[in-house]
Amino acid sequence: MDIHSRIKKNLIPRRRFLGSISAAFALFAFQSAGFSCKSGSRRDKMILSFYLDDTNPEIVNAEAYKEFLDYCQANGIKGESSFIPGYNGRSIISENNQNQLNYLEYAKDAWSKGIDSHMEIMTHNTLFNFESGIKNEGGIHEGLWLHEPDVTIEEYQKYFSDILDEAEKAGIKYTGLTWPGCGCEACTKRYAELKQQGPLKISQAAFDALLNLAKNDQFRSRVLSVFYEASETEFGIHKRAAEGKYGVYDLMPNAMDHFGIWENSADRVNPDYYITEDGQSGIIIRHLENKAPYCMWYMHWQGLNPEKGVGWEAFKTVTDRINKHLSDKVVWMRPGDIVTAYHHSGGWSFAEDL
Ligand SMILES: [Zn+2]
Ligand SMILES: [Zn+2]
Repeated sequence: MDIHSRIKKNLIPRRRFLGSISAAFALFAFQSAGFSCKSGSRRDKMILSFYLDDTNPEIVNAEAYKEFLDYCQANGIKGESSFIPGYNGRSIISENNQNQLNYLEYAKDAWSKGIDSHMEIMTHNTLFNFESGIKNEGGIHEGLWLHEPDVTIEEYQKYFSDILDEAEKAGIKYTGLTWPGCGCEACTKRYAELKQQGPLKISQAAFDALLNLAKNDQFRSRVLSVFYEASETEFGIHKRAAEGKYGVYDLMPNAMDHFGIWENSADRVNPDYYITEDGQSGIIIRHLENKAPYCMWYMHWQGLNPEKGVGWEAFKTVTDRINKHLSDKVVWMRPGDIVTAYHHSGGWSFAEDL
């Protein structure tokens, strides 16, 4: 499936446009997103993180996931990876082969190795029927369902809760939610209709349901990260629901996928996009120079996986270059820890002490 194709296709011309405008405007964009850009800021380390979408044990061997996790742990790399129990239409927690069982073991270990787990919802496709144990044959796709104005808080809460319970059976705790993108005809048509009513957004009822479940301590932590859209310039962290020590934050990546994307395409691999060999340029350097509090990108398992992914070597190249040039200037954090620290400090002030 062409995952997230909608936002990414739209972003390409915009990115070219923004690439040609002045640094002054880029600075304005940061400020308008709520960042402290004052000179003399005490912050001397920028946060690094990522979201890894579509992770599953169906397209490659589960060992590939272990290799990815072990690499992250060995190098102190922190980020997030989706866990989608019903990716193949049935829950691999209820019904599994040895490879899927191995994958569940590795997914359970992900957090202890530095990697958060998001529900990219149950199937990344049609809604899952928890009574029959299989996904619906037809009907609405999960990503679109998150946008539908008529779905109630209770309906979202029940569905999310069922996913949390299912993952819990395998000892896996979620830290947040990633919107599964979809470019199918039905989704494209309905997204276009919704856009005519205003800017496209995940329903507030879905965020409220996530907050309720956080308050029930059904997630790993009290503050949840959500991955929805990304922008190199107009990025930021957006509070979507909060009460006391609980919160739900849309934490926007500010760097794109140049590790092969969901197409596993060699044309879409470019380590220099992140950081060049001499450590002088690339988006990580640009965000550092602009005193952005973080640089976060997203990737896809199809392109990133160590078994068949065309982006795996590039990912290792990028992390080697970061180690070589930026070891005293950056600090890796999981998205869940970023939103938690942000919530408790009421802003980015925590980043000044990293
Ligand atoms: Zn996806
Ligand atoms: Zn669709």
